[in-house]
Amino acid sequence: MSQCLFCRIVNRKIPADIVYEDQQMLVFKDIAPKAPVHLLAIPKKHIENLDQLQAEDASILGEMLGKFAQIAKDNGLDQGYRVITNTGPGGGQEVYHLHFHIIGDIRQASWRGM
Ligand code: 5GP
Ligand code: ZN
Repeated sequence: MSQCLFCRIVNRKIPADIVYEDQQMLVFKDIAPKAPVHLLAIPKKHIENLDQLQAEDASILGEMLGKFAQIAKDNGLDQGYRVITNTGPGGGQEVYHLHFHIIGDIRQASWRGM
């Protein structure tokens, strides 16, 4: 089993402020939020990033994305939100376990370049 940072959060080896969980996905608050609402949605399966996606991962991703709207609403983002996934060094990826940033209230954000 992978011992990457986000796998350790999945396995409850290190704490996180979890806002949603199901069989395939975990959603928790970013430890250094760049906006008033800044969530990270990850597959429980260790996939490094979009570059490492396998054909069999398509259904996991489809199910994850399909749940973002409700998760955003449940976290107060009724005016919309931004979804970002950084891929590789050129994309500024720091944690090599696929994750989608779900960011809301973007006008108050300090995300790189925002
Ligand atoms: P990346 O740059 O890889 O797209 O984003 C990694 C994100 O993970 C960053 O926004 C960073 O603040 C967040 N992060 C790093 N370590 C932890 C941690 O231990 N717990 C939580 N909740 N977020 C983390
Ligand atoms: Zn992992």
